[in-house]
Amino acid sequence: MAERFGVRHASTGEIFRQAAADGSELGRTVKDYLDSGGLVPDELTSRVVEEMVVGRSDSYLLDGYPRTLRQAHDLDAMLGRRGQELDLVVCFELDDGQALRRLTGRLVCAECGENYHREFMPPQAEGVCDGCGGPLKVRSDSAEEVVRNRLAQYDEKTRPLVAYYEERGLIERVDASPAPQEVTRRTEALLSRIASR
Ligand code: AMP
Repeated sequence: MAERFGVRHASTGEIFRQAAADGSELGRTVKDYLDSGGLVPDELTSRVVEEMVVGRSDSYLLDGYPRTLRQAHDLDAMLGRRGQELDLVVCFELDDGQALRRLTGRLVCAECGENYHREFMPPQAEGVCDGCGGPLKVRSDSAEEVVRNRLAQYDEKTRPLVAYYEERGLIERVDASPAPQEVTRRTEALLSRIASR
C-alpha cells in the first residue's frame, strides 16, 4: 500500500525484528521485549523512529507506532520540530478471538518481510514466499501466551490513543474482520482521500 501511494513503509516491529536477526546492539536490547510480547521502552522506540524514519523521509506510513500516549507525544514533538503534521490515523478493529487466531498462525518471509497465515493466507508452496522465493519463518511472538500478552498490552497502553486522536479529528476506523483484500480496499479508499487533498 505504501508503494502504491509512493510513501515509505516504516514498521517499528520490522525494524526491531531485523535488528534482532542481525544481532546489532539495538537487536540485543529489544530481543527480550519482542519474544515476550512486551513493549520496547518508549524513549528507545521514539529515538529509533526519529533517527530512522521521520528524520530521513517526508512521507511515510507508520505501522505499529505510536503504541503509547508517551510515543504519541514524542511523535507530535518530532513532527513539530520539522513543521510536519499527521494526515490520518487508521484504527483497525478486530475482536480478541479473531486477533488471537490471526496472530498465532502468522508466517513471515525472512527475505522480504511479506506476511502469510497458515490457515487464512497460505503460500502457494509450503514454507516459500510467493513473491521472492525466500524462506517463511514463524515469528518468535506467535505463541499463544505471547499473543495474549500483546493483546493485554494493547488494551492497557495503546487503546487510549484512540480517544487521543479522536479528539483531534484524525482517526478513521476500519473493520478488520473481512478478508485481507476487502480490508485493503477500504484502507486504500481512506488513503486515497488524503492523497488527493
Ligand atoms: P509488530 O510487528 O508491530 O507487531 O511489533 C512486534 C513487537 O515489536 C511488539 O510486540 C513490541 O515488542 C515491539 N514493538 C513494535 N513497535 C513498537 C512500539 N511502537 N513500541 C514499543 N514496542 C514496539
